[in-house]
Amino acid sequence: MAQLSPVLKQATPVLVARGEGVYLYDTEGRRYLDFTAGIGVTSTGHCHPKVVAAAREQAGTLIHGQYTTVMHQPLLRLTERLGDVLPAGLDSVFYLNSGSEAVEASVRLARHATGRQLIVAFDGGFHGRTMGAAALTTSGAKIRAGIGPMMGGVAFAPFPYAFRYGWSEEEAVRFALTELDRQLVTTAPAGDVAAFLIEPVLGEGGYVPTPPAFLAGLRERADAHGILLIVDEVQTGFGRTGRFWGHQHAAAVTPDILITAKGLASGFPLSAIAAPTELMAKAKPGSQGGTYGGNAVSCAAALATLDVIESEGLVANAAEQGRRLLEGLRGVAADHPGIADVRGLGLMVGNEFTTADGRPDPQAAARAHAAAAAHGLLLLTCGAYGNVVRMIPPLIVTAEQVDEGVGLWAKAVTDATL
Ligand code: PMP
Repeated sequence: MAQLSPVLKQATPVLVARGEGVYLYDTEGRRYLDFTAGIGVTSTGHCHPKVVAAAREQAGTLIHGQYTTVMHQPLLRLTERLGDVLPAGLDSVFYLNSGSEAVEASVRLARHATGRQLIVAFDGGFHGRTMGAAALTTSGAKIRAGIGPMMGGVAFAPFPYAFRYGWSEEEAVRFALTELDRQLVTTAPAGDVAAFLIEPVLGEGGYVPTPPAFLAGLRERADAHGILLIVDEVQTGFGRTGRFWGHQHAAAVTPDILITAKGLASGFPLSAIAAPTELMAKAKPGSQGGTYGGNAVSCAAALATLDVIESEGLVANAAEQGRRLLEGLRGVAADHPGIADVRGLGLMVGNEFTTADGRPDPQAAARAHAAAAAHGLLLLTCGAYGNVVRMIPPLIVTAEQVDEGVGLWAKAVTDATL
């Protein structure tokens, strides 16, 4: 008899039997309020009836229409439909399975398109675990430690993480842009840089919204030096932050390449990159692809996901419930000095734990996280030190469910600080 490799590190001890809406049920029938949404994937809730129906129907018609061999309709329909939600000008789409693969595809495209090698990523960024994506990731040592040498052609610049440095957002942005400018004339010469790669909210690295002024500063430098701006919207896309795309909080910024996955297909594996056609045309034909990319059932689920997001007003709901969640959590933090910062954008909210003298406190975060699970509230931690407890409810979450989550969190934090 085989057993599961101990390499798996599971955030909770829950053995799940089924999911419905914002709830998961374990094999004993216990109900959990799921504020993890499969790491920001099941945005339409677990097993949304419209997504289930679309996937069922497609599975009975065509499961695998391998896209480098034949073409299929769900992929063509999804591509057309994505045109309604993608930023203006990003009119060419290519599909893969996971966020990591799409990140790597964006790097391939940026290098082909510019003939340059260097990708500038930002401290604390997470872009995936495959070897190329891991080389761009600095959210925590576990992704990189012991697996080198890493892919070359990568430079890292500071991210404006204001809270960590004890600065205002303006100070953090000024520092990060000044340092980037210095790097563009020293360690990462601008003429060698193919792309900047950034998340609109630093995700695994600690749930820190990227200040709009920083994104605007990147766009300006990208334009000045012929550098491409790649936004990794794997976690922030599809309504998660209260706008359809996370970068849209920086009103004037349009990326050159956008990466999406997670919320795109409500739990079916699917990812994509989008870029202007003339840019995409610079990729060498056949240089991108994979056996399962653009799977027909995943594409059908993505089409249903888009319908649900639109018909149920989920982007607006994410903004509204996100504000309510942030406010509720700030109320809890007011009674618990160990929670030094509560921040977020839409339904991506982080609670950062520190010791009395301001150092990261992963132990307190771990205790609160475990106590929450014991109270029936599923959460995740993040941040370089694991000292941020994050909440990523499905976008269908109601005001009552937000209040339920905040109530359970208050109990968990009280337990954890006793
Ligand atoms: N980019 C970002 C911003 C992510 O949050 C993630 C996953 N957490 C990835 C890339 C990698 O996605 P995947 O796990 O599907 O490879």
